[in-house]
Amino acid sequence: MAVNRRLGRQAGGLLALLLLACNCLAAPAVSELLEQAETLRSSDPARFDALLTQVSQRKQELSSAQGQQLAYLQAYRLAFAGDYDNAIPRLKNLIADSPDSDTRFRAGALLVNIYTKSRQFADGLRQLGDTLVHIDQVHNSDIRTHGLIEAAYIHNEVGQYRLGLHYAERLLAAELPPRTRCFAEYLRYDAMQNLAVLPTSDAPMEEAIRTCESIGEVVLVNYVRTTLARKWVAERKRDAAIVLLQRHLPEVERARYPFLTVQFKSLLGELMFEKGDMAAADSYASETVALSSAVGNTYALVSAYRTLYQVAERRRDDETALVYYRRYAEADKAYLNEVKARELAYQIVRQETLEKSQQIQRLDSQNQLLQLQRKLELKSGQNTRLIIVLLVLLLASIAFWAYRTKRTQISFKRLAETDALTGACNRSHFTQRAERLLAQAGRTGEEVALVMFDLDHFKNINDRHGHAAGDWVLRRVVELGRGLSRKVDLIGRLGGEEFAMLIYACDLPSATRVADECRARIAALDSRETGHVFTATASFGIASTAQGGLELARLMSLADRMLYRAKHEGRNRICVYEGGYGLTDHSAPASNDGLVEETSPPRKPTDAGVERLGT
Ligand code: GH3
Ligand code: MG
Ligand code: MG
Repeated sequence: MAVNRRLGRQAGGLLALLLLACNCLAAPAVSELLEQAETLRSSDPARFDALLTQVSQRKQELSSAQGQQLAYLQAYRLAFAGDYDNAIPRLKNLIADSPDSDTRFRAGALLVNIYTKSRQFADGLRQLGDTLVHIDQVHNSDIRTHGLIEAAYIHNEVGQYRLGLHYAERLLAAELPPRTRCFAEYLRYDAMQNLAVLPTSDAPMEEAIRTCESIGEVVLVNYVRTTLARKWVAERKRDAAIVLLQRHLPEVERARYPFLTVQFKSLLGELMFEKGDMAAADSYASETVALSSAVGNTYALVSAYRTLYQVAERRRDDETALVYYRRYAEADKAYLNEVKARELAYQIVRQETLEKSQQIQRLDSQNQLLQLQRKLELKSGQNTRLIIVLLVLLLASIAFWAYRTKRTQISFKRLAETDALTGACNRSHFTQRAERLLAQAGRTGEEVALVMFDLDHFKNINDRHGHAAGDWVLRRVVELGRGLSRKVDLIGRLGGEEFAMLIYACDLPSATRVADECRARIAALDSRETGHVFTATASFGIASTAQGGLELARLMSLADRMLYRAKHEGRNRICVYEGGYGLTDHSAPASNDGLVEETSPPRKPTDAGVERLGT
């Protein structure tokens, strides 16, 4: 027993597990359920309802996109059932929140449909405008088509048949599924009839009728048939129109769509009256009036009252005729008011759209202006910076140019003032500066000495050892002179191998000592670095401002005379002008050919060797 019970419990558990597994395997994916709901939504409302309930119960399995698809289908179900008050806010939420452009677009298109059906045309047109601007971002072509259908539909409804026709033909230019093609054909012929531009041949309309028949679209196919019937009436083919309408009236009545039924019956009423069948006209018109409580002010009601009034008039029932005439007049007025209201709704929204686009254009141009201003500011900032950079560059190049010019001037001046070989002042510069120094000495009362000296038998050095050796001697002589003079003193090469030193604030004995030192150093020059062995000597003449006065020309002439005397007296010596005719000879060399071989070094000069000359 116990074993049996245990076995029984185990079998029960296994069964439950199996059932659970079967359940899991059998349950279709939510995506499949949603797909089925999409296909069935208009053709099988009961199944559609059941599918939505099923999906809602499995909400936790839905992805966010599937959640939005469910929200849309739920709003669709509400709209289909005529519960616009609940459908509208759901659709608005989807438009505001959905990240998916297709979902936002189809929600917008459905909202347009709801507004059109509930005759809120202004809202519908506004919504259409907001929706259609995004049509290029829609990926699914069926959803795009839905938007264009709503556009054609609402424009036909507000009497804007040209626009209705435009959207219908835009739709029909593409490959369409038969249901959509049927709807677009209906909208096209509705617009064409109201514009009185129906095709002369019946063939295209008959083709449209076949398209709608093929998918069992009873309502739409019969709308197209009323259009064809009216066309035939206009073509004086009244009987054919009556036959067409009467043949299809039963299926229209079965469809229980009063909007369509009143069209059929009111038109049949008009045609029967024209045919003279008062009873039939009366009957069709009365049935139209009876149905109109559910339909409102349509052209069918106006037509029905007119038929009833005309029938009563024909029957000479004036009282009834008057009653129907009044109702006809009221219905006509109401209908016209409604037509005007639709037209007004269209014009209001059009105006709003125009204003909005003008505002956008205004904002656009303001924006462009601001951008231009910003660019301009940027440019002028750049220009200012550019000008500053250019100015800086200009200033820098001017400064550089001025600096270069100054340097060139300085180097030209130096070139003009100095002797290229030795770097000493040339004759003219020496003269200029010496004159300034003498003038200064004149002011300060300082004594200035002028020492002039000339190399002895220099020609011989050139001749025997070459010009380069001569040049070397000239350069060394100037170096020696510089070494013996101070900054304030001047040393100049007066020409060839003749030099002058102007020694400032210096009396004759001091100048004589300097000159003698110079003479001794020249005589002691070691020529070996020239590659030759020779000795150079020089003869000196000295004059001072104390005896010669401050005039340079006179001082030079006196010193030159002393130099000449030194040469004459045997060279390598100093002659000093001391006023009067006194003459002092300083350091006469052993040989006077200017060339002392190293074997016989020059004698050290003594004071006795200095000759003094007085004026
Ligand atoms: P004196 O003792 O009488 O002055 O005899 P001197 O040979 O020195 O005099 P002279 O006037 O006959 O010759 C001067 C020479 O100096 C002639 C010339 O070749 C030489 N001389 C002049 N300028 C330069 C120079 O720049 N370089 C060289 N190497 N020699 C020069
Ligand atoms: Mg000489
Ligand atoms: Mg000379």
